Amino acid sequence: MKTSEIRQKYLDFFASKGHEVVASSSLVPWEDPTLLFTNAGMNQFKDVFLGFDKRPYSRATTSQKCVRAGGKHNDLENVGYTARHHTFFEMLGNFSFGDYFKHDAIRYAWEFLTDPKWLGLPKEKLMVTVYASDDEAYEIWNKEIGVPADKIVRIGDNKGAPYASDNFWQMGDTGPCGPCTEIFYDHGAHIWGGPPGSPEEDGDRFIEIWNNVFMQFNRTEDGTMNPLPKPSVDTGMGLERISAVLQGVHANYEIDLFQSLIRAAARETSVPFSLDVPSLKVIADHIRACAFLIADGVVPSNDGRGYVLRRIIRRAIRHGYKLGQKGLFFHKLVADLASEMGDAYPELRIRQAQIEDALKAEEIKFAETLDKGMGLLESALKDSPKELGGETVFKLYDTYGFPVDLTADICREREIGVDMEGFEREMNAQRERARAASTFKMAGNVEYSGADTCFEGYAEHSSEARVLALYKDG
Ligand code: ATP
Ligand code: MG
Ligand code: MG
Ligand code: MG
Repeated sequence: MKTSEIRQKYLDFFASKGHEVVASSSLVPWEDPTLLFTNAGMNQFKDVFLGFDKRPYSRATTSQKCVRAGGKHNDLENVGYTARHHTFFEMLGNFSFGDYFKHDAIRYAWEFLTDPKWLGLPKEKLMVTVYASDDEAYEIWNKEIGVPADKIVRIGDNKGAPYASDNFWQMGDTGPCGPCTEIFYDHGAHIWGGPPGSPEEDGDRFIEIWNNVFMQFNRTEDGTMNPLPKPSVDTGMGLERISAVLQGVHANYEIDLFQSLIRAAARETSVPFSLDVPSLKVIADHIRACAFLIADGVVPSNDGRGYVLRRIIRRAIRHGYKLGQKGLFFHKLVADLASEMGDAYPELRIRQAQIEDALKAEEIKFAETLDKGMGLLESALKDSPKELGGETVFKLYDTYGFPVDLTADICREREIGVDMEGFEREMNAQRERARAASTFKMAGNVEYSGADTCFEGYAEHSSEARVLALYKDG
């Protein structure tokens, strides 16, 4: 089954259960300063869960564009290293706004996954988790659905922080949240990894495909958990992950959609097509995030959302460089992406030229410094091959436009440490210089240091921290 067919099937299934099919919202959250990018299907319904907004329906289903490259849910560092994480992905979701709760949520999920009329997955390949103290969910799975006890794992931290565990979903530090039941697919003993809750759970054998959240609380800034007006349901299934299962492949990167993008990345970087080259996977991942973010109005810049976008673009360009492509290539993948995903997301076609232009401009800009920066990095590593010194990390950042996470990514590939403390010292010194300079400029009768205002975003200096300082959702 093609990825596009699975998306449609999901929406059809939930429409047949009385759900309104609602379009994906923008990747840029609307009037929500607590969130960097849309990171889950429930974001656009946040106020409905909280009771501030009313809709003409009490059940909805979506295929939502998500980006997890900063803030609370950040998977940027996972891309290229796990089989299952992307920066951009599509989350299929069904929602109940005070309508059905645990029983129906679990029943619908099981029916969609295992009924031969729908996906028809073999039941024995599935495992579920419930929140540690959620006996109700446990009983539904075990007694009503018939999932054997050895396939149900209770997960949750009862050691004084009952609502801080993995199996308790929250969109950010504040907002709607609740206990989860997650569904995992076992890709087979030939792949390293253990069942959820085991020491090897981070492996890629048992992959989480679907999370059902029983939305019950609103977490406020001081950590108080206030009950929501009505218990609700929020679910999320990664489209790429369920595609991998149905297409009989292990990694998301092997599904139809990604094969096309990886083929395009190979073509544009002039390397042979292969699903085993990490840089090709990273480029295929990043073109989606970058193109969709630009289509939703994000512009590469030096702070906030624009800086996250710039970092992703530069990472992709650097991976092309690593494959030997020193010319402009990244923007040429937009056409391939538009033909893969433009039917479902027409904005890709409508804004194609604009996306290409923005990416090309970024490529031209970074091309001026990438080669020189790489030269500096290589020679620094010759002198000190175990750790990249903070001064170099700073110089790469300041003079050559290497975001810190990009430098760290290069070092990680080579198993070399990064002197972050040294980098922070350099960054502080620069702040001091800037403060001195602006105090000097303002000297006279006004006692004022412009540095505090100008460099607000630099108060925490790493690029990630800078973004977090601007968008406090992490
Ligand atoms: P994981 O534990 O694998 O990181 P998660 O628990 O962080 O996933 P949720 O926040 O529960 O994920 O999101 C709901 C679903 O969205 C997941 O079950 C998964 O199918 C999908 N998903 C989450 N993060 C990603 C990602 N970075 N790339 C692709 N799919 C994802
Ligand atoms: Mg995660
Ligand atoms: Mg998880
Ligand atoms: Mg989850």
